Amino acid sequence: MSAPSLSDHLRGRIESEGPLTVAQYMAEALSNPDFGYYMNRDPFGIEGDFITAPEISQMFGEIIGLWCAVLWQGLGAPAPFNLVELGPGRGTLMADLLKAAAVQPGFLDAARVHLVETSPVLTAAQEKTLSGVPLKTPPQWHRRLEDVPEGPMLLIANEFFDALPIRQFVRGRDGWSERLVGVDAGADPEQGSLVLQFEMSPPLAGAPEVPDDFQDAAVGSVFEVCPDAQAMVQAIAARIARSGGAALIVDYGHPSSAIGETLQAVKGHSFHDILADPGEADLTAHVDFGALAEAANRGADGGAVQVLGPVPQGAFLERLGLSARAAILLEGASPEQAEDIRSAQFRLTDVSAMGSLFKVLALAQPGLAVPPWS
Ligand code: SAH
Repeated sequence: MSAPSLSDHLRGRIESEGPLTVAQYMAEALSNPDFGYYMNRDPFGIEGDFITAPEISQMFGEIIGLWCAVLWQGLGAPAPFNLVELGPGRGTLMADLLKAAAVQPGFLDAARVHLVETSPVLTAAQEKTLSGVPLKTPPQWHRRLEDVPEGPMLLIANEFFDALPIRQFVRGRDGWSERLVGVDAGADPEQGSLVLQFEMSPPLAGAPEVPDDFQDAAVGSVFEVCPDAQAMVQAIAARIARSGGAALIVDYGHPSSAIGETLQAVKGHSFHDILADPGEADLTAHVDFGALAEAANRGADGGAVQVLGPVPQGAFLERLGLSARAAILLEGASPEQAEDIRSAQFRLTDVSAMGSLFKVLALAQPGLAVPPWS
């Protein structure tokens, strides 16, 4: 029988197994089948908790659609090919992408759309968003990338990797410890709600997850590792090395591995206590693009995949023609629509908004020309 709430479930799990790693906590909070944040809600938009680039403007998906069309041609227009998206949200990016890529004759007929999604609510939203797209073969849904059939592939992922669970290591005087989530023994359980608290593991004999450069970091330093992200990128690179294709990863994060604590909770467009409402707030952490690039090289097993970037999102979109696209949309726009278009362009590209914190990393088979790098 399942527990009546995520708090009860977490309390039971901590009582029987001991404190959880931050990654175990994050996985429960986001993806517990009954109570996980993504499992039973649509979190996007003004009414929701946060807004993503494809929900800000159609221009984001259109630019990525043109990128896909160019790469597909560069691959020799394989038919069929797998067009894969990880964590498609409402399906808006895929719908806008397909609309733009349709200008390339044959693209829609050749595309086998595979969506990797764990949330039943968002799967239903994606189905609705994509129902009108004239694909030759209907989209297929999978819970894991491993379930997507092999073959030449173009893969995209926007704000997917920031939702994967991270572990946190903290430097103490006697070496590294792992930050854990336990129950506050002093809190009155009769109060009803679970009182979670961070605690530290005893100092570890070694912390191989922390790169050599940071092993002697100052006391109090935090290093975050996302094992699932590394495994996922390794698997993507291995697929590209085996069957050809490319991948585009867009997310917020740092260009190379760094000391720093970035785990955050967001609810109703504001920061929220990380432990206060598991399952009710979004939890994300900055993506370590340096670690992803290394994982890609490991997956490619000896350099059979190009790893390009990361470049800032603003530069990526501008170099692929965002201003030109905005100018075309502005031609037929009412004053109100024009204001929306200008504001969207600013939000997607300005360094004070998403333009610099968000970054784009590409993986590609050797020899394939990949804009804006080529
Ligand atoms: N790409 C979308 C949504 C980003 S939110 C956009 O830009 O708007 C993160 C998405 O990843 C959601 O669709 C969520 O349900 C999905 N997701 C989170 N963890 C996942 C996992 N482990 N496997 C598959 N999908 C996951």
